Amino acid sequence: LAITIKYFKEQMKMKNKDSIRGQKGLVEKVIEAGLCMNCGACANLCPYIASRSCTEKAVIIHPCDREEGICYAFCPRIPADMTSLRKDLFDPGDLTPELGSVKGFYMTRATDQQVRNRAQHGGTVTTFVSLALEEGLIDTAVLAEGEAGVLPRGAKVSDPSEVGARAKSKLIVTPIVAEFNRIAGSGAEKIGVVTTPCQALAFAKMRQKPFPLKDNHIDKLHLTIGLFCGWAFSWRKLTDLLREKIGEDSITGLDIPPSGYQIMEVRTPAQTLEIPIDDVLTCVREACRYCFDMTAEFSDISVGAGRCPEGWETARSWNQVITRTSRGEELIDLARSRGLLEFREVPEGNLERLKEASLNKKRVAAKNLADKSGDPGDLIYLDGRDPLWSGILK
Ligand SMILES: Cc1cc2nc3c(=O)[nH]c(=O)nc-3n(C[C@H](O)[C@H](O)[C@H](O)COP(=O)(O)OP(=O)(O)OC[C@H]3O[C@@H](n4cnc5c(N)ncnc54)[C@H](O)[C@@H]3O)c2cc1C
Repeated sequence: LAITIKYFKEQMKMKNKDSIRGQKGLVEKVIEAGLCMNCGACANLCPYIASRSCTEKAVIIHPCDREEGICYAFCPRIPADMTSLRKDLFDPGDLTPELGSVKGFYMTRATDQQVRNRAQHGGTVTTFVSLALEEGLIDTAVLAEGEAGVLPRGAKVSDPSEVGARAKSKLIVTPIVAEFNRIAGSGAEKIGVVTTPCQALAFAKMRQKPFPLKDNHIDKLHLTIGLFCGWAFSWRKLTDLLREKIGEDSITGLDIPPSGYQIMEVRTPAQTLEIPIDDVLTCVREACRYCFDMTAEFSDISVGAGRCPEGWETARSWNQVITRTSRGEELIDLARSRGLLEFREVPEGNLERLKEASLNKKRVAAKNLADKSGDPGDLIYLDGRDPLWSGILK
């Protein structure tokens, strides 16, 4: 009897969670609850919601009373059946609890030194995007543009020679999905995106097509390149911190070396400065504390910084790459056959360490969500009964 009552209570809880599935639900459960990632999934699909880097969260332009909406359905912080998402998008045999789908794991960098010089790490992402455009796998790419430390914006690029100018990480969330929604509704046919993990999840939810296609141009999405992501900054807080530490000097790059270094590097035209990580952590966006995904699991191919026994000075010019779908595998094979990427053997233990780091992010997110809800069984947008989560949280 106790089990039956518990079951019905759980059902009621999930039902209540899901009772308003339109803009009002989104405002209550995500925007006002501090969970909005500003991915842009709810924007540019109707005129009532906007998303820009400076707003740090979606902005309601006009209230809407619809009981169901795409804004709610596509939001990565609204509960979703992750097991069915994974089954729909990936080969079941490739699925791992820690990293999602893993077909292959590589260490790569661009063979072209000029690409590497402009890139964040090894220039693997720039190489993939340029190649996909050159080969006609996509006709348009959605990237992030803007100087480091300055507010970035989503940009559409169709000329492969212009991809390198958008290289380097903007450590502030850029509403890439909003830009996809904007251009997909007007002209572009085969689109590739470079995304953070939350944005990749939004695209995955769109691919499940909970609404008729006229509202959803997701079939135009032909390639998702995910970036590994520990967290992103609040641009207001980051700008204040950089002004305090660097003054008005222009900033050419930001990077966070592995945790053992306990610093953020800030590059200016004259020098590289280091800011203690404890100061930096005060600028992390609140919403990122509830994110479970470190490696952009819902992508075709995911790319992050390299790790190797020689240390960070060598590793920083390499990337670790996870291929997740056959599309991702085809792209890396093509880059190899064209001689655009250099490969080195993956150092022993790298995959296991990445799994552990990824698992750790999941555990921290689950703990933060349980603290937020006040109930260890209520992980807000994650379903604690999902075998994946119950396994991880044991
Ligand atoms: C917010 C954030 C946090 C990250 N945290 C980690 C981490 O913890 N561990 C780790 O290993 N790697 C992390 N990365 C990824 C890492 O910084 C590099 O992007 C990755 O290693 C690829 O390097 P690359 O030289 O191939 O990229 P590049 O060749 O320089 O290309 C980078 C591409 O990413 C696009 N881009 C840049 N910023 C954004 C953004 N905010 N949103 C969407 N697209 C963007 C650019 O337009 C460009 O096309 C993070 C990236 C971001 C944006």
